[in-house]
Amino acid sequence: MSEVVLPNTQLLINGDWGDAADGHRFTTVNPATEAPIAEVALGGAADIDRAVRAAHRALESGRWPAMTGAERGRVLNRLAAIFRERMDEIVLLESIDAGKPLAATRRQDVAAAIDTLEHFAGWADKLAGEVIPVRHDALTFSRKAPVGVVGAIVPWNFPLMNAVWKTAPALACGCTVVLKPAQLTPLSALWLGQAALEAGLPPGVLNIVPGSGTDAGAALVSHPLVNKIAFTGSPQVGRGIMRAAAENVTHVGLELGGKAPIVIFADADINRAVRATTAGAFFNAGQVCSAATRVVVEDSVHDEYVERLTERVKSLRVGNPLEDGVSMGPVISRGAMEGILKYIDIGRSEGAKVALGGGRCGKQGYYVAPTLFVDAHEEMKIVQEEIFGPVLTILRFRENDEDEAVRIANNSIYSLASAVWTRDINRAHRVSSRLHSGMVWVNTYGPTDARLPWGGLGGASGIGRDLGRAALEAYTERRTVWMQFD
Ligand code: NAP
Ligand code: MG
Repeated sequence: MSEVVLPNTQLLINGDWGDAADGHRFTTVNPATEAPIAEVALGGAADIDRAVRAAHRALESGRWPAMTGAERGRVLNRLAAIFRERMDEIVLLESIDAGKPLAATRRQDVAAAIDTLEHFAGWADKLAGEVIPVRHDALTFSRKAPVGVVGAIVPWNFPLMNAVWKTAPALACGCTVVLKPAQLTPLSALWLGQAALEAGLPPGVLNIVPGSGTDAGAALVSHPLVNKIAFTGSPQVGRGIMRAAAENVTHVGLELGGKAPIVIFADADINRAVRATTAGAFFNAGQVCSAATRVVVEDSVHDEYVERLTERVKSLRVGNPLEDGVSMGPVISRGAMEGILKYIDIGRSEGAKVALGGGRCGKQGYYVAPTLFVDAHEEMKIVQEEIFGPVLTILRFRENDEDEAVRIANNSIYSLASAVWTRDINRAHRVSSRLHSGMVWVNTYGPTDARLPWGGLGGASGIGRDLGRAALEAYTERRTVWMQFD
């Protein structure tokens, strides 16, 4: 195993690394061992103000606005190349800071970051406006301009990937960014900032300010020079951000929570469905906004499904993310672990039955056993509320009652993701169009791609889209020009 190489742990503002104005620092720990990894500068409102002003200057003058789209694309490609060259370093850093199994971090988090950078690098020189003919004596057109200074606030479950999902399209579109990573996982964002400077991003274009949500995050949201807040996190914080953004009428993109249902019909390939639900529910220890959390299975195959699923989940190896063959690491913090265990108790008291797991694993590190609840009902808290841990609830629907299956699946305040399993092509079309979510998987679970838009349909899952062409819309404004001839 290679040694951990730490990035600079100060704030990155205007291309310079420096301490927080008040000198405060905080410690980021490895959730697998509870051991401290590094002390990081804790940015506050004064630092955010400095970072936003730097981003504003970099937007208005200097090298960045003078660059062509093609040049911006080349910088993003160079940044992706640095990820490839230093793959082991960033994989290990993200793995220890967030408690993610090494192989999955390489395959998912870092691979997605690279693909997203390269995808949006390709768009940077293709942001065409539109000529809209109105009169013979005028040229009338709209062009796409960067939305401006972007305040990006991201959570700890996919720290690097979420940071890049915001940063790559924003930079491709010519915006400048102030990124506030989660306090629990600041290191990969700092690495990203350092790599971006090496890739030739001009100073002030990407500023990294670790700090607390209620201090640095709130200051970023309400800063008058911020034009767009790109947020991923909890519904509760998202609502507050939307309210705060109303003051300056700042654009907001909110990727919030999820409680994804999986509808399994009796004609489905049950073995494949079992494999997919296992991965969907326990990948990243269930700390995924689109985690499979509510399986809604047709009565006639319920028992067979539960039996095979239980066997499969038993075979998951829970342990230190740095060990080979580990499929599930710890959850992010003691607080998260306690919250999940509390939900498991609630599930028991609500009358659901624990078919597997149901407690903590070990005494050190924040490990929760993969947990299956059967005999769950749609109104239970464990079925309605986002647990954000390795807990899967299993419900049934009446044989041949597609309407009931869809009704149970849609009975949620969340609308981020869902899945349907069936071999019947007609039913696949019908049900996938009736499931109320921004993403629907059919006979698979979980894949996302930089080319595909991602986001909820409002409510507790939020509004706006990451990725795909939708992200280009999110980080540009159409400016209309009426050019009158003599
Ligand atoms: P969270 O508490 O909302 O935190 C997310 C980020 O917001 C962190 O950086 C946090 O800072 C910051 N923050 C907290 N309070 C703030 C405030 N008042 N103003 C501005 N920023 C503030 O969410 P979490 O518990 O870390 O993450 C889990 C949630 O994220 C789940 O609900 C999950 O479903 C959702 N999520 C959604 C997606 C998606 O794509 N839709 C993806 C991943 C996660 P600090 O924590 O550093 O204080
Ligand atoms: Mg950490």
